[in-house]
Amino acid sequence: MARRTHWAISLLVLAAAFLASAGPCQASAKSGFVFFEGTQYPLGVVFIQGETPGPTVMIQGGIQGDEPTGFLSAQILAESRVLKGNLIVVPRANVPSIHVHKRAVNVDMNRRFDRDYNQFYEDRLARVVRFLLSQSSAFIHLHEGSGFYDPVYVSALRNPSRWGQSIIIDANTHERLDLARLVNSALAEINTSVKEKDLQFKLFNTRTFEPDSQYAKEMRKSLTFYALANLNIPAMAVEVSKNIGNLGWKVKHQVYATSVLLRHCGVEIVPPHVDADEILRLHERDHRVKINGKSLDGQALALPPGGTLKVDPGSAGKEAHGQVVAVFASDRQGVNLVDSPRMALERFQELETRVDGRKVSTTTVRFAGDMPPPLPDGPPVFVCWLNGKAVQVKQGEVLRAVVGDQLLIDGVLGSKWKEILNFKGYTARPWSNDGQDMGWEIILDPESFIDKYRLPGSKMDVARYQVVRETLGARPAGFFVDIEPRLVQSLKLLDAKGQSVNMHWTSGGEMPLLPGEYTVADAAGNGPASRLLPVLGNRPLKTGERFRVEASRTQLLTLRQATTFAGLGAMTIVPSTAQKTAEKAPDKAVAKASPKPEGRPELRAEGRPELRAEVKPVVKPVVKSGVKPAVKSEAKHSAKPAVKPAAKSGAKLVTKVAAKPAVKPAAKDAARPVAKAVTKTAAKPEAKAVAKPEAKPEAKVDAKVDAKVDAKVDAKALAKARRLSANPDRTAQF
Ligand SMILES: [Zn+2]
Repeated sequence: MARRTHWAISLLVLAAAFLASAGPCQASAKSGFVFFEGTQYPLGVVFIQGETPGPTVMIQGGIQGDEPTGFLSAQILAESRVLKGNLIVVPRANVPSIHVHKRAVNVDMNRRFDRDYNQFYEDRLARVVRFLLSQSSAFIHLHEGSGFYDPVYVSALRNPSRWGQSIIIDANTHERLDLARLVNSALAEINTSVKEKDLQFKLFNTRTFEPDSQYAKEMRKSLTFYALANLNIPAMAVEVSKNIGNLGWKVKHQVYATSVLLRHCGVEIVPPHVDADEILRLHERDHRVKINGKSLDGQALALPPGGTLKVDPGSAGKEAHGQVVAVFASDRQGVNLVDSPRMALERFQELETRVDGRKVSTTTVRFAGDMPPPLPDGPPVFVCWLNGKAVQVKQGEVLRAVVGDQLLIDGVLGSKWKEILNFKGYTARPWSNDGQDMGWEIILDPESFIDKYRLPGSKMDVARYQVVRETLGARPAGFFVDIEPRLVQSLKLLDAKGQSVNMHWTSGGEMPLLPGEYTVADAAGNGPASRLLPVLGNRPLKTGERFRVEASRTQLLTLRQATTFAGLGAMTIVPSTAQKTAEKAPDKAVAKASPKPEGRPELRAEGRPELRAEVKPVVKPVVKSGVKPAVKSEAKHSAKPAVKPAAKSGAKLVTKVAAKPAVKPAAKDAARPVAKAVTKTAAKPEAKAVAKPEAKPEAKVDAKVDAKVDAKVDAKALAKARRLSANPDRTAQF
């Protein structure tokens, strides 16, 4: 969402600094990125490149939503000055669990690292976490645990089965890593800051590799174990105690402990100075949201029946590391309205605003008019949101979508019932399978659905599912959802002069480009370009963000699903001369567009206005034949718009659902053009635990990471990159 996109200083700064980091001194740079933007599970990440080179260490908080110390500490650490080395900070790894202040929503996310699961949103988050970890030389996990760990039994609260006030490792030594030594030497220093003897931190080895350990079964699924066992990097958890009431004290000491551990891993930071009171104020900060453009000031909200509800979180949520805001309607605990609009098709009582899981206000809702809204003539009409746009589907019709699309079933127009709409094959809540899938975000990924509910679609590779109305008392009805593989035909890049370069997308192939600066402006395929995430090397590219093609090296450009992080293949960017470009890619259209009138390319990052801009192709003489303008209109750029949004004129969202049902009936299938370009969606996203050839002792970490940072993809690496292009996580390092 736009509110999150603009905040970040561009990653470009970071990249440029990395490329120039040959000398011992480098400019410090900080940037952020939000993965899964616009979904219910956004994941903000802060990258900080230090002032002098060194290893990259990842810090993470908020994997379990009931441990606020961890995410506040990480938030503060993300504001650190980094003198040496680099930081990757994930302050809030599991935002939905923070909103509800629960350890787990569907599953405990810290038990999803023993393999590449693909069922819940937690599994998609875990994919990105592994991707980030693969770029790191050490990992520190920030937690808050019950009681006080002690190797001997002292009391019910203080014994070997408690977790608080400890630094947890999975083994004293592993391969050539001496974790116990690393942590013990840090502990000596950390505990000098803890005056209260009984609150000092202790080393806690869960002996996860050893079958007789009582923790082995659980901890083998955890992230620290994944890091240690599969990536061979030092990994530890800093646990403060849930039984210490003073949040400020806990955050302060967790921040300090982490900074000491970081130094022992080769990264030197100066965290911002915050005292306990400031931390409390930070935690208890209120946020004012706007609903339908109006600030909530304690008064009831009047809503027309059938009207659309849109929440603007205001100043909150604009930073990847800041607090997270949610607004929940009293009848729907599954959808944060900040990330998802809703139509008022059924009565509900109130809206509740939460900041980092703390309830800050409630607003009563008054329906200004008869409820339910009038029933339309004819068969039932279902209201859905597909990728944030309202669509209507009539009884028996087919809603067309693409793998990775985001669907929300909102209700039935004019209904007087308490509707139950069941997407057969999808389980909104594993703990309560009552068939109700209305009011939950559904990411359309057949791999995560129950196989036996898959119906034959209109084509071989199209998966069809049925949404069945199971409402008590109402007449049975339903509709279908067809999900086809996402196809990418071409990428439209803009060079530094704003001229457009169209590159045919062939996964595993080469993309010859003249050295210079580019942005990825658009993608042609069968789904919205906003649902694709380009990743250059290990760097996710924001919309409109520039990247550089150097004459001296090749780079790997990977495309991923923006909602699932699943791979859509990769191409190697090969620097070329104009001559070569034409020779190598005679069929690859290179078109010039007249430069945009507005001179500030960074403004384009917002809302992708270029998608709508009229682009007049000016054909280059060299590649005269077969040149196609990149994007002429919206209709053309998405080869086959799955479903026309009902409310196409975005301005009129508020009251009525636009009249025309967007969906084409199934019978018209034959008329549809058959997409030709085939990009495999099958690419397996996650590297199965890439064991690095050898574990490196602490002292060697620096050298290794420096090499990583510079990582020029030489010929060998390139060949490897190609072999691994279906498995992009394993390639270039951040
Ligand atoms: Zn925890």
